Amino acid sequence: MTNDIKKIYGIEDPNLIISSVSEGTYRNKPAKIIQASYKPKAIVCPKCGSSPRNNTGKYIIVKNGSKKVDVLLTHENTGIVSMKLSKQRYRCYNCNTHWTSQIDLVQPSHNISRIIEAKVIELIAERISLKLIAKLCSVSISKVIQVLKSLETYLPKEENRWLPEVLMVDEFRSHTASEDSMSFICADGESGRLVEILESRKINYLIPHFSRYPDEERFRVKFLVTDMNAAYFQLVKDIFPNAELIIDHSHIVKHLNEAFNSFRVREVKRLKVSGKKREASKLKKNWRFLLKNRLDINISEYKKWPSFRSNKYPYLTEQMMIDRLLGFSEPLKLAYDYFHDLLDSFRRKEYERFFELLNTLPDELDEEFKGQVQNLIRYQEGITNALIHPYSNGKIEAKNTHIKTLKRVSYGFKSFSNMRIRIFLTEGLIEVNH
Ligand SMILES: [Zn+2]
Repeated sequence: MTNDIKKIYGIEDPNLIISSVSEGTYRNKPAKIIQASYKPKAIVCPKCGSSPRNNTGKYIIVKNGSKKVDVLLTHENTGIVSMKLSKQRYRCYNCNTHWTSQIDLVQPSHNISRIIEAKVIELIAERISLKLIAKLCSVSISKVIQVLKSLETYLPKEENRWLPEVLMVDEFRSHTASEDSMSFICADGESGRLVEILESRKINYLIPHFSRYPDEERFRVKFLVTDMNAAYFQLVKDIFPNAELIIDHSHIVKHLNEAFNSFRVREVKRLKVSGKKREASKLKKNWRFLLKNRLDINISEYKKWPSFRSNKYPYLTEQMMIDRLLGFSEPLKLAYDYFHDLLDSFRRKEYERFFELLNTLPDELDEEFKGQVQNLIRYQEGITNALIHPYSNGKIEAKNTHIKTLKRVSYGFKSFSNMRIRIFLTEGLIEVNH
């Protein structure tokens, strides 16, 4: 019987002897209980290397009682099986060491088998809560956290640090107990492979961190893809001397959209104050149409528009409707034209035209809108590079979305290092040999 049961669990060690199987309970749940003992014969002292007998035949290593542990072999899903395992203890007379024999089935001082542990690790890599993992594996949450922490030794080692030619950098809200709630993430701009996540995005934290990378890794970085966070520009200067900046596309478009939109909001207020409540309300409701790419605006299909109901002319094209909206404010119409000219040249990757436009915006243009838009001139190099080279932060933003899901299922990750381990595992960057 012993050998058949051992076969089921893939145990090959001949020194494990099973004496009985009975019905019982494990953590108040019905379970099969296997009674077993482990008494390895060929042993040497782990400290001094002595054999059981010396050359005169005298016993050096003697049996010294046993240690009893409950080892969870399989979880609820397949029926709980728990092994009451008695492990032989030994004592060495040569160096006076005591120790407990260890069996491959379970890690020293653990009480779940490697079979369960492998399952826990497999589930940690999924986007599910630690609580659910605990339930699925019939272990406690603290056991799941213990297994998670134990994976730290498999994280990429400092001496294996590498950097890609295109480094995407971004930040995410980590919600951990750290002083800076924004954490830093970077990845390979070409493969999307995660490079590192760090607790803080502050420059006085990043510079010492990246300074520890070997020179040849730092010098390899040719492009740093980032949002308009000036702190990262410092990183390029100090740490990646061969790198050029690329401002991520979506951030440039977002900046332009926000500049135009905030002007529209101010115009809505101005119209309201000057008694034009209906115009204000129409501009407020239909803001999305003003951001629409002009090439995509429909000029032939006549429709009814909730904001423009008229008995005489009930049908308008989308273009006509937008023209009416812009008719409410001459300054907004002017800003609209420049806003879209800028977007068009950006989409067509005409960077010379883009900056020529920015540099020659007319004086009649709303000052605040103009100032916000012209802020982009400071990022000329990074924006030009964004239009020349095919890199953006799309891949890293997908990772940030995954992290958000993980955070949601993990109740905020009280510990940053646990979060870091889990992200590396989820990204497939931790290989565990079990
Ligand atoms: Zn010894």
